[in-house]
Amino acid sequence: MNVQRTRDGQVLVVGGGLVGLTTALVLRHHGVDVTLVEKRATTSPQPKARRLHMRSMEVFRELGLAAAVREAARDLAEHDHMATGRTLADARQLPLWQPTGPGEQPVEASPELPCLVAQDVLEPVLRRAAEDAGARVLFSTELTSFAQDADGVLAALRDRAGRESSLRAAHLVAADGARSPVRAALGIPRSGRGAIGGPQVSVYFHADLSAVVRGREFNLCRLEHPAAPGALASVDGRTRWVFLANGGDPDRDWPALLRTVLGVPAPDLDVRSVLRWQPEELVADRYSDGRVHLVGDAAHVMPPFAALGANTGIDDAHNLGWKLAAVLSGTAAPALLDSYDAERRPAGRFAADQSSRRSADVTSEPDAALAHPFVLAAGGFQYPAGAFVGDGGEAEPVTEFAPAGRVATRVPHRWLGPGRTLSTVDLAGPGWALAVADDPHRWRTDGVPVHRLDADFLSPGEGLLLRPDDVVAWRGTDPTAPAAVRAELLAG
Ligand SMILES: Cc1cc2nc3c(=O)[nH]c(=O)nc-3n(C[C@H](O)[C@H](O)[C@H](O)COP(=O)(O)OP(=O)(O)OC[C@H]3O[C@@H](n4cnc5c(N)ncnc54)[C@H](O)[C@@H]3O)c2cc1C
Repeated sequence: MNVQRTRDGQVLVVGGGLVGLTTALVLRHHGVDVTLVEKRATTSPQPKARRLHMRSMEVFRELGLAAAVREAARDLAEHDHMATGRTLADARQLPLWQPTGPGEQPVEASPELPCLVAQDVLEPVLRRAAEDAGARVLFSTELTSFAQDADGVLAALRDRAGRESSLRAAHLVAADGARSPVRAALGIPRSGRGAIGGPQVSVYFHADLSAVVRGREFNLCRLEHPAAPGALASVDGRTRWVFLANGGDPDRDWPALLRTVLGVPAPDLDVRSVLRWQPEELVADRYSDGRVHLVGDAAHVMPPFAALGANTGIDDAHNLGWKLAAVLSGTAAPALLDSYDAERRPAGRFAADQSSRRSADVTSEPDAALAHPFVLAAGGFQYPAGAFVGDGGEAEPVTEFAPAGRVATRVPHRWLGPGRTLSTVDLAGPGWALAVADDPHRWRTDGVPVHRLDADFLSPGEGLLLRPDDVVAWRGTDPTAPAAVRAELLAG
């Protein structure tokens, strides 16, 4: 056996999917030394997730990657509509549904628009960016076992050639997917509704349908043909498609069935893969175990109807990243990391519950009892406990989108100045920030940059202390409080 010598590192990320790669990027953004291992030789060959919500785009904006992601997403720009028909040939676009705010006004919730980009297109962009940012990214490398002690984690790795090595890291982040071998090794159970509905089949195929869909482009088209009812998802809007069939039989004559539900001959149709999968709602009972932390599907799985799986994972990475960096640099006590579970596990439960309660039917009216879509898409979840100082104020509403800078929520988006290039969401990250309604010199900040805002959500004399992940850690009028609160939170 050829075992190489042990290497040291600050953080080992296990899993090079969308969430593991984002975790590596967030950690590098905070100056953390990071190694990522991925057992596959390449990024995902499957399109899988396609919708990046506004909040995820805000994370990529902070990482300096929003433009690169949008460039990768150009094929599906203008594909926001839903559509429906018996076959694709006779499908019609549905009107674009615009969520409204109080008073039925359209709301501008974020400096970033959501974007549609298939995971197999996005992941190579993130992989390249992580490498460029200085992460050690090792594909074809599997974590085979690990052990932790008081000082760190010792990980055993094996590459495709069978070469074994070990790596000692201060922390391990498990981004190793729904089956998470790391979560299993730690014996962390999961809770939730389990299977939601019956099994589904995803048929990924190539066929040049550009002439068929031109002028009625769509994100998702519900097809009601009785031979195989389901939904057609645009992957690039021209030649790459996924048909999501109701019912779980993968062994049907898919080329023939697809031609029937498309309603066109599609002579070049080529089925690339047929996957049977079961929508599930399960959330890990603990997100951290000592120096090991779960992110993404390792921590939570949910049905895809609200497009929240990958987006919730990106938020996990953004939340955990600054905390790990603060602890590793000695700025914060290790107890700060307890807030990762306290904040992100309820957020995962909320996202999973909302996803399960949504329907796959794109033609149904949104259910008013469910969370407002922007609460899900623009960071509207309020953490019940964690690294902030509550002010006893009213709770953030859920069925309407009315962000007001409440403690434990993401700061509301407002443009700073007429140029509409800088947002309140840009004030924090990677550092802390203080947003105040009056003379900045009145405030004691201990080095935290202070910004004077003329924003409707700030009352005269008020200030908001923003964490590196844009979450309001404190709000009030005492000019000495922000420095004391920050010190208290970092002490854990
Ligand atoms: C049909 C479908 C549609 C979806 N649509 C959406 C959507 O529109 N929006 C959305 O947000 N989400 C969607 N999702 C969910 C989304 O795809 C997942 O939430 C997302 O891929 C999770 O990313 P991840 O990085 O956590 O896990 P994964 O992408 O599963 O990555 C885990 C990685 O870990 C690697 N790994 C595992 N064990 C080891 C080991 N021991 N050593 C090294 N590497 C290891 C695996 O090889 C894998 O690459 C969809 C899912 C499906 C199936």
